[in-house]
Parts: sequence; structure tokens; C-alpha cells
Amino acid sequence: MQEPFRKKKKYGQNFLIGNTVVKRIVAGSGIDADCGVLEIGPGAGALTRELLSAAKRVVSVEIDGELIPILENCFGNDSRFTLIHGDILKTDVSALLREHFAGMPVCVCANLPYYITTPILMLLLEGRFGFRSITVMVQKEVASRLCAGRGEDCCGAVTLAVQYYAAVRKLFGVPAGCFSPPPKVDSAVVRLDPYTVPPVDTGDEAMFFQLIKAAFAQRRKTLLNSLSAAFADRADKERISAAITAAGLDPAVRGEKLGIEEFANLTKKMININLKTEDHHV
Ligand code: SAM
Repeated sequence: MQEPFRKKKKYGQNFLIGNTVVKRIVAGSGIDADCGVLEIGPGAGALTRELLSAAKRVVSVEIDGELIPILENCFGNDSRFTLIHGDILKTDVSALLREHFAGMPVCVCANLPYYITTPILMLLLEGRFGFRSITVMVQKEVASRLCAGRGEDCCGAVTLAVQYYAAVRKLFGVPAGCFSPPPKVDSAVVRLDPYTVPPVDTGDEAMFFQLIKAAFAQRRKTLLNSLSAAFADRADKERISAAITAAGLDPAVRGEKLGIEEFANLTKKMININLKTEDHHV
């Protein structure tokens, strides 16, 4: 006799109960009958079923081998469904899209495993795969961080990184009681609509992200002190101060108060001061 399935904490297995929330997720995602859907972590298939009734094709990537026969049993007869047993973070997403969704708009829809929310979102955004939308369930606090306005307390480096790639909005909150087992935190569904063209011109994306990382690494420091520490081997403090002023900013401002427009301007000024290359000092 088959053992009953026991949910695994290590994979973030909190499964949705009932139909109400899954229906709201799919309705909010903008998925229609012409769309392909990439689902991450189908679990026992609560969301998968609704996705299959709304979309043209669904490809679900699940890490837990014990769930594979359960999912095959539920959806294996539907030729529009493909199940991939694997780790989304190790998946070649470009190859997957080419193989399963050629010529189709593709949306991502998932109740994410919370222990790897940020790496998954960055994988989906940094790859610039052309997703029409990315609709995901995340922890409530993470949702606030992703949607935070400039200078808000919960705004972090990840807020700016995500908002550089996509327009982000919270769709609705989901209490812990809607899952089995209930997680210790409440959740929320957010939708990200990736930009085809970045909302700001940085001149150098790698530098742009380095500046954001440096500014938020020590939030209480002034922008000048954060950048001077991060770029100590590549430029002296006076030149960094001049770049900050040239970007129209006060060197004493805290970096956490800035938005992506200001970091984009600052990037251009930092490029102008001809930083030593990173391996120059080795
Ligand atoms: N979609 C189901 C639902 O809403 O009921 C399950 C969601 S549960 C929060 C997260 C799912 O992601 C689990 O099925 C878990 O096994 C799977 N998972 C965890 N880590 C994963 C990874 N790295 N790659 C793919 N799936 C993963």
C-alpha cells in the first residue's frame, strides 16, 4: 500500500487548501487561453489544475521526487501538461522556453517555496526571458519589500533590483490558515510585469547594481562613507564625493533613501571618474 505523502519543511511545502485562493491567483495573473505557463513547485497540484483550465500549456518544475507520481497521476493524461522533475535554480530556463513554449507568450505562476524566493525572482528577472507576467505567492513581508516605495523602511537592495526589471504590485493578502500546514507567517500574491526596456538608463548595469548593494550594505552610513568603503581600492574619497555631487546628491544622504533614478544618475557620474579596474590593485 502507498504511504501517505508527508510534506517536507526543507522544500517549503505549505500547500494551498481549497479553490478560492488559486482562482484569485490565476485571475490576477492575466493568463489566458493563448498563454503558456511556467509553474514552479506544483506540490500536489492545487494551482496546476486551475492553470490548466486557463492556459494553453503548463510546464511545472518540481524538486520533490515523491510528488512526481502523484502529479503524473492527476495530470499525466493531459497532453498540454509537462512535468519536469528538477530544481528550478538549476534549470536552463531558456532551453525550457524554447522546447515547450515556442511562439507563445509565457507567464510564470507559482506559490513559491519561501526559502528561495529572492534567488528564484532574480533568476526569472535577470534572464530577461520575455515573460508576460510573473505572479507569485510570497511571504507578506517580502511582498511589502518588493512593492516598497523609495525611502520606505522596508525598501532594500532587492526592492530596487526587482523594480529595475519589472513593474511590481501586490494583488492581495493570504492568511496562513489557507495553507496546509499553515506557515508561521501570512502571505501575499504579487504580480511583476517585466519591462521590455529598463525604466532608467544606467550606462553600466554592473556598476548600477554594485552601487545599490554598497549603499544598502550599511544602511545607517552616509552614501559617501558606504561608497568610499566599497570602492576603497578603486577611487579616493574626494573623487567619489565629486561624483555624488555631480549626480545632484548630498554626500551626507543615506543611500537607503534613494530610488533607481538617482542610482542611475550616480552610475553615470561614477563611470566618469574612471575607477581603477577591479583587478588593477592585485
Ligand atoms: N503549488 C503548490 C500549492 O500551491 O499548493 C505547492 C507550493 S509549496 C509552497 C512550494 C513547492 O515548491 C513544493 O511543492 C516544493 O516541493 C517545491 N520546491 C521547493 N524547492 C524547489 C526548487 N528548488 N525547484 C522546484 N520546486 C521546488
